[in-house]
Amino acid sequence: MTADATDIVALTRALVDIDSTTGREGAAARWLADYLRAHGWPVLEQRVDATRFNVIAAPPAGRAGGVTFSTHIDCVPPFFPSRLDGDRLYGRGACDAKGILAAQVAAADRLRRSGETRVGLVFVVGEERGSDGARIANEAATDNPSRFLIDGEPTDNRLGLATRGILRLKLRATGRAAHSSFPELGESAIDKLIDALVQLRSIALPEDAVLGRTHYTIGLMTGGVAPNVVSPSAEAEVMFRTVSDASDVRRAVAPLERRVAIEHVLDVPTVRLTTVPGFDAAVFPYTTDIPFLPRWGAPLLFGPGSIHLAHTADEYVSVAELHQAADHYVTLARALLG
Ligand SMILES: [Zn+2]
Repeated sequence: MTADATDIVALTRALVDIDSTTGREGAAARWLADYLRAHGWPVLEQRVDATRFNVIAAPPAGRAGGVTFSTHIDCVPPFFPSRLDGDRLYGRGACDAKGILAAQVAAADRLRRSGETRVGLVFVVGEERGSDGARIANEAATDNPSRFLIDGEPTDNRLGLATRGILRLKLRATGRAAHSSFPELGESAIDKLIDALVQLRSIALPEDAVLGRTHYTIGLMTGGVAPNVVSPSAEAEVMFRTVSDASDVRRAVAPLERRVAIEHVLDVPTVRLTTVPGFDAAVFPYTTDIPFLPRWGAPLLFGPGSIHLAHTADEYVSVAELHQAADHYVTLARALLG
């Protein structure tokens, strides 16, 4: 472990102790922008809405071919403050993603002190709900040609090989209401929807050699108007964790359209990631801000902490892992810049 000018634990705790639940990132972003300025970084505060902004510390213009570290400032609710217990640093965002952010600042600082000027930082708001910060941060890359983007999410200090995408579809069944004592006079939308969902179970969905099979969850279902009325309408929302283009799933589920209308709600693409030899690598089933930051360079995914601890009621990260992450970030950046 190399001694850092950045106190990673203190920086993580300072950030964790400011509530930055998605939508309320203003105070944490303000603190972070001031911190980075005080440590010699030129900081751009990029407005996202009236109270929220991204914090971007890019190298001077003309330093082409650089590496940009990125992660998010926001957290899921509920907020709880930091607490250190042995090697464990507890608190909302300790793992996802304020410890990561602190390790990235430490790494960037170490690189800069060694004379490397082609390193930048992009810290965005809104990752946990729709990535509004990342979509806007993408625009800030125009004058700053960065060749690689090292995005931080909890990967247990392994490089990501690929991440799954998302496809959300709404299945909408339409029927005809009738008194339930004369069901033959009506047409049950709920029955049609159930038939479609049962049929979905037997449909072969796309598979990929690296990412595996497509998974899906029927997360929402509504329908009907009363116990004694044949249901005139019913709908279900299905979320697919995709392994290839969303259109592959759309084609596979097209036969359901004999029973239900299919409405496209949202999709996020799968991502193939850049890797560097000498690091453990794995596939990750979750989505990140990476699809929204294409202008910041070829993406890598790497971060300390476990995704199984992120978003939990006793979220924590290992202090040793945070320090190792800073070392790994330096090694990765040097490999990519070399
Ligand atoms: Zn995260």
